[in-house]
Amino acid sequence: MDHFLYRNGLLHAEDVPLPEIAAEVGTPFYVYSAATLTRHYSLFKEALAPLPNLVCYAMKANSNQAVVRLLGDLGAGMDVVSGGEYARAKAAGVPGDRIVFSGVGKTRAEMEQAIAGGIRQVNIESEPEMSLLSQLASAMGATVPVTIRINPDVDARTHEKIATGRAENKFGIPISRASEVYRMAADLPGIEVVGIDVHIGSQLTELEPFEAAYLKVAELTRQLRADGHDIRRLDLGGGLGIPYTRTNEAPPLPLDYGDLVRRTVGDLGVEVEIEPGRLIAGNAGLLVASVLYVKSGEGRDFLILDAAMNDLIRPAMYGAWHDIVPVAEPTPGTETAAYDIVGPVCESGDTFAKQRAVPPVAAGDLVAFRSAGAYGAVMASEYNTRPLIPEVMVRDDQFAVIRRRPTFEEIINRDTIPSWL
Ligand SMILES: *Cc1c(COP(=O)(O)O)cnc(C)c1O
Repeated sequence: MDHFLYRNGLLHAEDVPLPEIAAEVGTPFYVYSAATLTRHYSLFKEALAPLPNLVCYAMKANSNQAVVRLLGDLGAGMDVVSGGEYARAKAAGVPGDRIVFSGVGKTRAEMEQAIAGGIRQVNIESEPEMSLLSQLASAMGATVPVTIRINPDVDARTHEKIATGRAENKFGIPISRASEVYRMAADLPGIEVVGIDVHIGSQLTELEPFEAAYLKVAELTRQLRADGHDIRRLDLGGGLGIPYTRTNEAPPLPLDYGDLVRRTVGDLGVEVEIEPGRLIAGNAGLLVASVLYVKSGEGRDFLILDAAMNDLIRPAMYGAWHDIVPVAEPTPGTETAAYDIVGPVCESGDTFAKQRAVPPVAAGDLVAFRSAGAYGAVMASEYNTRPLIPEVMVRDDQFAVIRRRPTFEEIINRDTIPSWL
């Protein structure tokens, strides 16, 4: 459920009509609903109760300071994958002991940053990384809690670019080598093994792959405990999918996922961490754009928008579907027409949808992309020197710009012409 509904003939974000925001900030822009973010976080908390747990929001889905502050104030932990995200979490007021550090290629500087600033745990992805962390932590006189990410060799049955749990993927250590690597870890100074980490992919629309992975983690927990390791925390990753269309079958709900977690690892007496990103932020955001032109082509019509692939890359990158709806509510029974919905960037890949049936729209009309709150703004670029688009947060009847659109001057001034040129 989200908080983007038609009221009085106009699509609203909570209690704010979208044209009101468009008039103030100009299109295109992203808009996020505070109530939806809060609700999605709470759903996970309810789903995991009564297990001791920490819901660590995967910041890479949407790392705007306002989003991180809102979730952090609700008590969320943060899953970060870079020094930049770590700094963002801290800047939004999240304490180090609620931040977990994931990622397959952490640099020396990032590890030092996390050790110095405080970290709940580092999720180790390889032996060389583990040795480096051990060296750095020892040199800094610290002991860093770690989990080791295991690769369970499970097919997440999702898009190949976001599947991470198969043996051929770059992530984690093979589960078959876990006892050896945990033995190594136990002997290293500067780190303390506290648990196991797993994350098999994103946008999972079935529970079975989670179940297969978590059963393997449960078995490994017993085995590692028998080997003398104090496994007391399981980081079960993120990945629960969201409905991107209103018509296709609904992915499992957080409550079903919570049942699964309890069923698979609930009797181990561990603290559970999860790292949801997409499910918290995805349906909490829209991308709003204007129709620039309606263009008739050879056998097909194009809706040319002022938003482009640099603003929302998911369709170009993953062939992703976003529902695209007019902001003015179509009258019931309106006939739809098929359009290719495209942006102005000079690539044919700048196509949001092909032959998409939408109610008739005209130049100047506003349209909204649903489910654009996750992996939208964070993946944007300034390709074609199109400024990053503004982000807006709504709570009830208030809205605020939470990142403004940079000026051309600001963009140009980031470059430097060498004095010798
Ligand atoms: C991307 C990622 C997540 C979040 O995945 P979602 O599908 O957005 O829930 C969590 N943990 C790790 C390690 C990731 O790489």
